[in-house]
Amino acid sequence: MDQRSFRKLLSRNIGLPLGLGLLGAVAFVAVINYLLSAMQWVEHTDRVIGNANETVKLSIDMETGMRGFLITGDERFLDPYEVAKPQIFSSLQSLRGMVEDNPQQVDRIDRLVALQQAWNDFGKEMITQRRNGGDYRQAVGNGRGKRITDEIRKEFDDLVGTEQQLRMARNETVSRVTVTAISAFVLFIVGLSGLLAYLGRRDLLALSSSYDDNLKAQQRSAERLEHQAWLRNGQTQLAEQVLGQLTLPMLGDNILRFFASYLGSVVGALYVRDGHGRLVRVASYGLDAEQQAREQVLASHDGLLAQAVREGRLLRLEDLPEDYYRLSSGLGSGLPRSALLMPASDDGQINGVIELGFLRPLQVRDDELMERVAGNLGMSIESARYRQRLQEVLAETQQLNEELQVQQEELKTANEELEEQSRVLKESQAHLETQQAELEQTNEQLSERTDALDRKNDELSQAQEELQARADDLQRSSKYKSEFLANMSHELRTPLNSSLILAKLLAENGEGNLSGEQVKFAESIYSAGNDLLNLINDILDIAKVEAGKLEVRPETTHLERLVEGLRGMFLPLAEHKGLSFEVKIEGQVPATLFTDRQRLEQILKNLLSNAVKFTDHGQVSLAISYQAGTGIVFAVRDSGIGIAADQQQAIFGAFHQVDGSSNRRYGGTGLGLSISRDLAHLLGGQISVDSSPGQGSVFSLILPERFEAQAEEVEALSLRPTVDTLPPAPQAAALPAPKLPAPAFADDRERAPFGNRCILVIEDEPNFARILFDLAHELGYSCLVAQGADEGFALAAQFIPDAILLDMRLPDHSGLTVL
Ligand code: ADP
Repeated sequence: MDQRSFRKLLSRNIGLPLGLGLLGAVAFVAVINYLLSAMQWVEHTDRVIGNANETVKLSIDMETGMRGFLITGDERFLDPYEVAKPQIFSSLQSLRGMVEDNPQQVDRIDRLVALQQAWNDFGKEMITQRRNGGDYRQAVGNGRGKRITDEIRKEFDDLVGTEQQLRMARNETVSRVTVTAISAFVLFIVGLSGLLAYLGRRDLLALSSSYDDNLKAQQRSAERLEHQAWLRNGQTQLAEQVLGQLTLPMLGDNILRFFASYLGSVVGALYVRDGHGRLVRVASYGLDAEQQAREQVLASHDGLLAQAVREGRLLRLEDLPEDYYRLSSGLGSGLPRSALLMPASDDGQINGVIELGFLRPLQVRDDELMERVAGNLGMSIESARYRQRLQEVLAETQQLNEELQVQQEELKTANEELEEQSRVLKESQAHLETQQAELEQTNEQLSERTDALDRKNDELSQAQEELQARADDLQRSSKYKSEFLANMSHELRTPLNSSLILAKLLAENGEGNLSGEQVKFAESIYSAGNDLLNLINDILDIAKVEAGKLEVRPETTHLERLVEGLRGMFLPLAEHKGLSFEVKIEGQVPATLFTDRQRLEQILKNLLSNAVKFTDHGQVSLAISYQAGTGIVFAVRDSGIGIAADQQQAIFGAFHQVDGSSNRRYGGTGLGLSISRDLAHLLGGQISVDSSPGQGSVFSLILPERFEAQAEEVEALSLRPTVDTLPPAPQAAALPAPKLPAPAFADDRERAPFGNRCILVIEDEPNFARILFDLAHELGYSCLVAQGADEGFALAAQFIPDAILLDMRLPDHSGLTVL
């Protein structure tokens, strides 16, 4: 009910009865007034009647007095007459004033006055007559006086009668009016009161029901407020719990403890998403030891937790199964009856799940609180994670900082060095300036020479063209040579073989018709032929390799068998020289390998025969072992003369022997190792040597377990003659491969072949070389650094750089010489 209708109601229920009372009072006053006025009129009438009676009495007194005098003639009897005579008219006049409002009565009084006047005249006459002794008796006897008196009496009676009638009529009117008015008023009051009572009751009922409604609404709002306060309180308390610099486990503990105390959860766990999207348990509450120890990480599709994450909403679980979490306390353990799974999210991203178990049924307000705090929790989890990351990054930064400081110190020292250098530079600049003047002079001379040089250059380029043409010819002829050698060797072997057989036959002297000397000649021919054949075979092999015509025929080769063959061949030779000979195969070596057996045998025979040849006492051995990732290693070891370090590469060159006398002393052609190395390459392997003079040598052949022909390898082999058969530079071949000194610092030589262009720096001052090296790198070149002229040559020959930076003053040779 609003204020206005309440005021209306109030004014109706209070104002109306009040007005009614007032009206009653007014009516009452009016009735009283009316009655009073009516009473006045009645009183007036009574007074009129009284006055009339008084006047009548006066008239009678006058008559009585006159009669007494008339009878007695005694003057004393005239006293009443005399007394009444002056009074009667005034009495009549006052009566007339009283009935003024009634003309009929006024007329009557006027008549009475006239009658009284007439009687007075009559009385006076009579009295006078008496006194004078006149005949009063006759006058009295003819009845004139009596008539007047009767008339006066009659008039008075009429007057009083009229007044009495008037009084009666008034009384009647008053009683009628009073009864009617009072009845009407009572009826009105009763009706109005009834109406008021009805309306009042209705309004009060309405008021009471509205009050009741209000009361209920108030109660509901109070409950709502209380509920809101509970939720807000919960949010505030939780917010206090997640405040501060907390780690994830501390945050989880605080959250779970809060829910335990605020919602009465008896068991709980907090899972947080890690970088792989898995849920990792970071905190728990009230779990028993077994659960605690159980898996802490859940994959992104496992179980109800993942379901809650996927749906992104609260999950309520009632009537939990037996194998749900067991909670445990100091007093015992039990099962929760219900559970809530609430995903926590930040910025729309779900980053964790809270799982709570209860011993009571779930209430709506539990859900509401959980849903309200989900965002806040998500934010707290996120910030804890950020903090963790921040700390890690901070630690890294600190470490970097320390490293930076170290580097700064290094920089400082470098700076000092630089300052020193710049001082030196300044000095040299002054020096340079003087030199520049000199240079300008020489420059002029030089320009003259340049012209001369230009001319020579033209000549040179002509000569170069000729050279190129010759080189092409040479390449062609070298190819022909290889082919010729291959063919010729092949052609030579047939007649040589027949002459060998013939020489052998001769030497055996089957018919006994040759002298001892002739047999010796034949043996010499045989032995020389044999050497020749070997030589031809070697040349044939080399020519074939160079011409790329050597075919590899891989097959499954039994090592044991191969070794037995070798043992059979070399044991007698060794024993003949008084050497011990041993062959051993190590345990992990496979029984077979897939390769060209004949070529392998050829290599091993060559190595073994060298070993026996160059060993005078001691032993020769062949050891076969297996190296995972590399292949099978055949190591031929001897205790012979050994090879000097500077010879160890050269002996693999064609026709190379350690010293000139060796041919005379040991025989041989100097081709064996060269062929062996080529063959080893062909089979996908390599040969290396480790030896020291006087101690013996170890030649190691390493072969892959399984031969695989490689297209480019075959191609490379077939291309080789064009390179290798350029006119042999005998000295170059005889020279040892230049031994490079260790570089001043790690340049790019290990990175060859280079993907980009390469610059060779020949500079002995290491710091300056370093600067040039860095500059070259900055400009995107690879860079090699040589510290001297010789090393520079070697590097240039080996890597063929795109450009060379050359220092003019080098420790070994002058720059001009190098140029
Ligand atoms: P050849 O044996 O026909 O002279 P090689 O190419 O087989 O030719 O050997 C080249 C040179 O290497 C030999 O002349 C010898 O000086 C040296 N040499 C090879 N093997 C040995 C060894 N086991 N001990 C010492 N020197 C060796």
